[in-house]
Amino acid sequence: MKVLVTGGAGYIGAACVEQLCEAGHTVTVLDNLREGHRSAVDPRARFVRLCLSEREAVLRVVRESGAQAIVHFAALALVGESMTDPSRYFRNNVAYGLNLLDAAVAAGVRKLIFSSTCATYGQPERLPITEDLPQRPINPYGESKLMFERLLGWYERLHGLEFVAFRYFNAAGATERCGEDHRVETHLIPNVLKVALGRAAQCEIYGTDYPTPDGTCIRDYIHISDLADAHIRALAPGARGFFNLGNGAGYSVREVVRMCEEVSGVRIPVVERPRRPGDPPRLVASAEKAMRELGWRPRFPGLREIVASAWAWHRAHPDGYAD
Ligand code: UDP
Repeated sequence: MKVLVTGGAGYIGAACVEQLCEAGHTVTVLDNLREGHRSAVDPRARFVRLCLSEREAVLRVVRESGAQAIVHFAALALVGESMTDPSRYFRNNVAYGLNLLDAAVAAGVRKLIFSSTCATYGQPERLPITEDLPQRPINPYGESKLMFERLLGWYERLHGLEFVAFRYFNAAGATERCGEDHRVETHLIPNVLKVALGRAAQCEIYGTDYPTPDGTCIRDYIHISDLADAHIRALAPGARGFFNLGNGAGYSVREVVRMCEEVSGVRIPVVERPRRPGDPPRLVASAEKAMRELGWRPRFPGLREIVASAWAWHRAHPDGYAD
């Protein structure tokens, strides 16, 4: 199948492009390289450097790609940053995304697969989170993704553009080629592993007074290969709707730090900081719907193997993609 992947040079996008190429699909990657890395893109894919803000060019590239499906990863995805610059989040994730939707309709693309987030749920009233729980985001990042989910609903109803929206929990881990390398790293696991690598003196814990057993936030970490696998399943005819993607197991920030110590064999000093605005205390997925309807099963469900894969990548690429 011909597939166009936006954000295909990014952390999760590049892992998905790799699997798509592996499965024999013809892939065009569209990425502005603001966060992504050219060398992360599988050499079998065609690469176009383009920002979704460039409406006419997006319309042209989507049409020329002949894509039957679009996988849309390109977005800003930092909770903290969204709290200080909401305008940037709504512009990039909603307004620019609209250019892609219009291009998909104009080019007769059949299906769009969207990277949504558990941040659309806000502070859920119960755990694990199922897809039918109310969506009440508590940060502009989650709100921007929810707005795009709603646009998808209208575009399907009015233009017949089918969609699958995956609500990722915390993407983590690495493949042999693809790992996490953000220009400014804010994510927990790479920041903790940076200390293990000797590239930082200590890691920070944002908030130790949450209503959780050890006072730190609980998240559900899911391997990028398992996320990528779900996207490939979503290309199948009949796959439609909203799906959580997580392992159904929650780990606190302190437990993640401990696991990084165990995997690396390095003691990691921590400093306790105040809460980071916009962070909900606990997010744990029920991904039963994806298992039931898509036949999806995580192949790397344990935190240890997820952290070990990230550690292997960071040790092999201490300077990231170095581009
Ligand atoms: N966190 C932390 N120190 C860091 C980075 C993150 O304590 O250096 C916490 C953060 O406050 C959140 C959890 O770790 O509770 C996961 O944060 P991350 O940014 O990795 O992902 P998010 O859940 O925001 O998508």
